[in-house]
Amino acid sequence: MSQPHQIADNLARVQEQIAAACARSGRNPAFVQLIAVSKTHPVETVLAALEAGVQHLGENRVEEAESKIPAVEARTLHRPTWHMIGHLQSRKAKDAVSLFPVIHSVDTVRLANKLSRAAVETGRTLDIFLEINVSGEASKAGFDALNWQREPARREQLQADVLTIGALPGLHLCGLMTMAPIVERMEDARPVFASLAALRSALVEATGIPLPDLSMGMTDDYPVAVEEGATWVRVGRAIFGERRV
Ligand SMILES: *Cc1c(COP(=O)(O)O)cnc(C)c1O
Repeated sequence: MSQPHQIADNLARVQEQIAAACARSGRNPAFVQLIAVSKTHPVETVLAALEAGVQHLGENRVEEAESKIPAVEARTLHRPTWHMIGHLQSRKAKDAVSLFPVIHSVDTVRLANKLSRAAVETGRTLDIFLEINVSGEASKAGFDALNWQREPARREQLQADVLTIGALPGLHLCGLMTMAPIVERMEDARPVFASLAALRSALVEATGIPLPDLSMGMTDDYPVAVEEGATWVRVGRAIFGERRV
Protein backbone atom coordinates (compact mmCIF):
# COMPACT_ATOMS: atom_id res chain seq x y z
CA MET A 1 0.00 0.00 0.00
CA SER A 2 1.32 3.44 -0.92
CA GLN A 3 2.25 5.73 1.96
CA PRO A 4 0.88 9.31 1.96
CA HIS A 5 4.29 10.85 1.17
CA GLN A 6 4.72 8.42 -1.74
CA ILE A 7 1.38 9.45 -3.14
CA ALA A 8 2.33 13.13 -2.87
CA ASP A 9 5.70 12.45 -4.57
CA ASN A 10 4.07 10.38 -7.31
CA LEU A 11 1.47 13.06 -7.90
CA ALA A 12 4.16 15.74 -8.23
CA ARG A 13 6.01 13.55 -10.75
CA VAL A 14 2.88 13.00 -12.84
CA GLN A 15 2.12 16.74 -12.82
CA GLU A 16 5.71 17.40 -13.96
CA GLN A 17 5.32 14.90 -16.80
CA ILE A 18 2.09 16.56 -17.88
CA ALA A 19 3.77 19.99 -17.82
CA ALA A 20 6.72 18.63 -19.82
CA ALA A 21 4.40 17.09 -22.42
CA CYS A 22 2.57 20.42 -22.70
CA ALA A 23 5.87 22.24 -23.18
CA ARG A 24 6.92 19.80 -25.94
CA SER A 25 3.64 20.25 -27.78
CA GLY A 26 3.07 23.96 -27.19
CA ARG A 27 -0.01 23.43 -25.03
CA ASN A 28 -1.18 25.31 -21.95
CA PRO A 29 -1.08 22.94 -18.94
CA ALA A 30 -4.13 24.73 -17.52
CA PHE A 31 -6.17 22.81 -20.11
CA VAL A 32 -5.03 19.36 -18.98
CA GLN A 33 -6.76 17.95 -15.92
CA LEU A 34 -5.66 14.92 -13.95
CA ILE A 35 -8.05 12.25 -12.73
CA ALA A 36 -6.46 10.08 -10.05
CA VAL A 37 -7.90 6.61 -10.66
CA SER A 38 -8.54 5.21 -7.19
CA LYS A 39 -10.35 1.98 -8.19
CA THR A 40 -9.52 -0.93 -5.84
CA HIS A 41 -7.80 1.41 -3.36
CA PRO A 42 -9.17 1.85 0.16
CA VAL A 43 -10.61 5.01 1.70
CA GLU A 44 -7.36 5.84 3.56
CA THR A 45 -5.42 5.90 0.31
CA VAL A 46 -8.01 8.13 -1.34
CA LEU A 47 -7.87 10.52 1.63
CA ALA A 48 -4.08 10.72 1.27
CA ALA A 49 -4.50 11.66 -2.39
CA LEU A 50 -6.98 14.41 -1.49
CA GLU A 51 -4.56 15.65 1.16
CA ALA A 52 -1.87 15.80 -1.55
CA GLY A 53 -4.10 18.03 -3.68
CA VAL A 54 -6.05 15.66 -5.94
CA GLN A 55 -9.37 17.19 -7.06
CA HIS A 56 -10.65 14.56 -9.46
CA LEU A 57 -11.05 10.87 -8.68
CA GLY A 58 -11.86 8.04 -11.08
CA GLU A 59 -13.73 4.84 -10.24
CA ASN A 60 -14.79 2.05 -12.56
CA ARG A 61 -17.44 0.10 -10.64
CA VAL A 62 -20.76 1.36 -9.28
CA GLU A 63 -20.74 -1.19 -6.43
CA GLU A 64 -17.33 -0.06 -5.22
CA ALA A 65 -18.25 3.62 -5.53
CA GLU A 66 -21.48 3.13 -3.58
CA SER A 67 -19.54 2.38 -0.42
CA LYS A 68 -16.35 4.34 -1.11
CA ILE A 69 -17.76 7.74 -2.09
CA PRO A 70 -19.84 8.33 1.07
CA ALA A 71 -17.03 6.92 3.23
CA VAL A 72 -14.52 9.35 1.72
CA GLU A 73 -16.85 12.33 1.79
CA ALA A 74 -17.65 11.78 5.46
CA ARG A 75 -13.99 12.22 6.28
CA THR A 76 -12.77 15.15 4.19
CA LEU A 77 -13.42 18.81 3.61
CA HIS A 78 -11.79 18.59 0.16
CA ARG A 79 -14.81 17.86 -1.99
CA PRO A 80 -13.49 15.90 -4.99
CA THR A 81 -15.30 15.42 -8.28
CA TRP A 82 -15.97 11.73 -8.93
CA HIS A 83 -15.60 10.44 -12.48
CA MET A 84 -17.08 7.15 -13.65
CA ILE A 85 -14.58 5.70 -16.13
CA GLY A 86 -15.53 2.01 -16.34
CA HIS A 87 -18.09 0.06 -18.33
CA LEU A 88 -21.58 0.87 -17.14
CA GLN A 89 -24.55 -1.46 -17.58
CA SER A 90 -27.78 0.27 -18.53
CA ARG A 91 -29.56 -1.12 -15.48
CA LYS A 92 -27.03 0.69 -13.26
CA ALA A 93 -27.56 4.04 -15.00
CA LYS A 94 -29.72 5.45 -12.25
CA ASP A 95 -27.27 4.48 -9.50
CA ALA A 96 -24.40 5.95 -11.50
CA VAL A 97 -26.19 9.28 -11.93
CA SER A 98 -26.70 9.57 -8.19
CA LEU A 99 -22.99 8.93 -7.54
CA PHE A 100 -21.09 10.59 -10.39
CA PRO A 101 -21.41 14.05 -11.97
CA VAL A 102 -19.21 12.92 -14.89
CA ILE A 103 -19.35 9.69 -16.90
CA HIS A 104 -16.53 8.98 -19.36
CA SER A 105 -17.74 5.58 -20.54
CA VAL A 106 -20.99 6.17 -22.43
CA ASP A 107 -20.70 3.45 -25.07
CA THR A 108 -24.20 3.12 -26.56
CA VAL A 109 -27.12 5.38 -27.47
CA ARG A 110 -29.25 3.15 -25.24
CA LEU A 111 -27.08 3.91 -22.21
CA ALA A 112 -27.12 7.64 -23.04
CA ASN A 113 -30.94 7.52 -23.11
CA LYS A 114 -31.10 5.85 -19.72
CA LEU A 115 -28.64 8.34 -18.23
CA SER A 116 -30.58 11.23 -19.69
CA ARG A 117 -33.82 9.98 -18.17
CA ALA A 118 -32.20 9.44 -14.76
CA ALA A 119 -30.57 12.87 -14.86
CA VAL A 120 -33.84 14.58 -15.73
CA GLU A 121 -35.68 12.70 -12.96
CA THR A 122 -33.17 13.89 -10.38
CA GLY A 123 -32.96 17.41 -11.78
CA ARG A 124 -29.27 17.12 -12.63
CA THR A 125 -27.14 17.78 -15.66
CA LEU A 126 -24.64 15.01 -16.20
CA ASP A 127 -21.35 15.61 -18.01
CA ILE A 128 -20.66 12.75 -20.38
CA PHE A 129 -18.03 11.50 -22.80
CA LEU A 130 -18.62 9.07 -25.63
CA GLU A 131 -16.24 6.16 -25.36
CA ILE A 132 -14.78 5.47 -28.77
CA ASN A 133 -13.16 2.22 -29.87
CA VAL A 134 -10.59 3.61 -32.29
CA SER A 135 -8.42 0.52 -32.58
CA GLY A 136 -11.23 -1.94 -33.27
CA GLU A 137 -10.14 -4.37 -30.57
CA ALA A 138 -13.03 -6.78 -30.00
CA SER A 139 -12.36 -6.79 -26.24
CA LYS A 140 -13.00 -3.06 -25.98
CA ALA A 141 -16.29 -1.29 -25.36
CA GLY A 142 -17.18 1.89 -27.17
CA PHE A 143 -18.67 3.24 -30.36
CA ASP A 144 -16.97 1.49 -33.26
CA ALA A 145 -14.69 3.94 -35.05
CA LEU A 146 -12.28 1.54 -36.73
CA ASN A 147 -11.06 3.03 -40.03
CA TRP A 148 -13.44 5.97 -39.67
CA GLN A 149 -11.31 8.08 -42.06
CA ARG A 150 -11.74 5.57 -44.89
CA GLU A 151 -15.30 4.41 -44.23
CA PRO A 152 -18.01 7.03 -44.81
CA ALA A 153 -20.74 4.76 -43.43
CA ARG A 154 -18.95 4.45 -40.11
CA ARG A 155 -18.41 8.19 -39.98
CA GLU A 156 -22.07 8.88 -40.72
CA GLN A 157 -23.17 6.51 -37.98
CA LEU A 158 -20.94 8.31 -35.49
CA GLN A 159 -22.29 11.69 -36.62
CA ALA A 160 -25.86 10.46 -36.19
CA ASP A 161 -25.08 9.12 -32.70
CA VAL A 162 -23.45 12.42 -31.67
CA LEU A 163 -26.49 14.35 -32.90
CA THR A 164 -28.90 12.01 -31.09
CA ILE A 165 -27.01 12.06 -27.81
CA GLY A 166 -26.19 15.76 -28.08
CA ALA A 167 -29.93 16.49 -28.17
CA LEU A 168 -30.83 14.49 -25.04
CA PRO A 169 -31.99 16.53 -22.06
CA GLY A 170 -30.10 16.16 -18.81
CA LEU A 171 -26.81 15.46 -20.53
CA HIS A 172 -23.94 17.74 -21.44
CA LEU A 173 -21.77 16.10 -24.09
CA CYS A 174 -18.20 17.15 -23.23
CA GLY A 175 -16.30 15.16 -25.80
CA LEU A 176 -14.73 11.82 -26.60
CA MET A 177 -12.89 9.22 -24.53
CA THR A 178 -10.70 6.31 -25.55
CA MET A 179 -8.39 3.67 -24.19
CA ALA A 180 -5.33 2.86 -26.26
CA PRO A 181 -4.33 -0.78 -26.72
CA ILE A 182 -1.59 -2.06 -24.45
CA VAL A 183 1.66 -1.46 -26.31
CA GLU A 184 5.31 -1.99 -25.53
CA ARG A 185 6.42 1.59 -26.16
CA MET A 186 4.10 4.51 -25.42
CA GLU A 187 4.96 6.00 -28.79
CA ASP A 188 2.98 3.14 -30.35
CA ALA A 189 -0.21 4.49 -28.72
CA ARG A 190 0.17 7.84 -30.50
CA PRO A 191 -1.79 6.94 -33.65
CA VAL A 192 -4.83 6.01 -31.54
CA PHE A 193 -4.79 9.34 -29.69
CA ALA A 194 -4.17 11.29 -32.91
CA SER A 195 -7.07 9.45 -34.53
CA LEU A 196 -9.42 10.34 -31.66
CA ALA A 197 -8.38 14.01 -31.90
CA ALA A 198 -8.96 14.01 -35.65
CA LEU A 199 -12.33 12.26 -35.23
CA ARG A 200 -13.35 14.92 -32.72
CA SER A 201 -12.58 17.66 -35.28
CA ALA A 202 -14.49 15.82 -38.00
CA LEU A 203 -17.53 15.33 -35.76
CA VAL A 204 -17.55 18.97 -34.63
CA GLU A 205 -17.37 20.05 -38.26
CA ALA A 206 -20.16 17.71 -39.37
CA THR A 207 -22.57 18.17 -36.44
CA GLY A 208 -21.91 21.69 -35.17
CA ILE A 209 -21.84 20.26 -31.66
CA PRO A 210 -18.80 21.47 -29.75
CA LEU A 211 -16.80 18.59 -28.26
CA PRO A 212 -14.17 20.48 -26.28
CA ASP A 213 -12.78 17.58 -24.26
CA LEU A 214 -10.66 14.54 -24.98
CA SER A 215 -10.35 11.98 -22.16
CA MET A 216 -7.31 9.89 -23.03
CA GLY A 217 -4.06 8.68 -21.49
CA MET A 218 -3.34 6.29 -18.61
CA THR A 219 -0.19 5.44 -16.63
CA ASP A 220 1.61 3.83 -19.56
CA ASP A 221 0.80 6.44 -22.18
CA TYR A 222 -0.44 9.76 -20.74
CA PRO A 223 2.54 11.91 -21.87
CA VAL A 224 1.83 10.99 -25.49
CA ALA A 225 -1.91 11.50 -24.99
CA VAL A 226 -1.22 15.02 -23.69
CA GLU A 227 0.98 15.75 -26.72
CA GLU A 228 -1.96 14.68 -28.91
CA GLY A 229 -4.48 16.95 -27.18
CA ALA A 230 -5.86 15.20 -24.08
CA THR A 231 -7.76 17.56 -21.79
CA TRP A 232 -8.34 14.83 -19.18
CA VAL A 233 -5.86 12.08 -18.32
CA ARG A 234 -6.90 9.13 -16.14
CA VAL A 235 -3.91 7.93 -14.14
CA GLY A 236 -3.98 5.16 -11.53
CA ARG A 237 -0.76 3.17 -11.02
CA ALA A 238 1.64 6.09 -11.48
CA ILE A 239 -0.02 7.74 -8.47
CA PHE A 240 -1.15 4.86 -6.25
CA GLY A 241 1.24 2.06 -7.24
CA GLU A 242 0.28 -1.34 -8.63
CA ARG A 243 -3.21 -2.60 -7.90
CA ARG A 244 -3.58 -5.89 -6.08
CA VAL A 245 -6.11 -7.82 -8.15
C1 LIG B 1 -7.94 1.64 -14.57
C2 LIG B 1 -8.24 2.65 -15.62
C3 LIG B 1 -7.38 3.73 -15.84
C4 LIG B 1 -6.08 3.94 -15.09
O1 LIG B 1 -5.15 2.94 -15.44
P1 LIG B 1 -3.63 2.99 -14.93
O2 LIG B 1 -2.93 2.12 -15.91
O3 LIG B 1 -3.64 2.47 -13.54
O4 LIG B 1 -3.19 4.41 -15.01
C5 LIG B 1 -7.76 4.68 -16.80
N1 LIG B 1 -8.88 4.55 -17.51
C6 LIG B 1 -9.73 3.51 -17.34
C7 LIG B 1 -10.96 3.42 -18.16
C8 LIG B 1 -9.43 2.52 -16.39
O5 LIG B 1 -10.26 1.50 -16.24
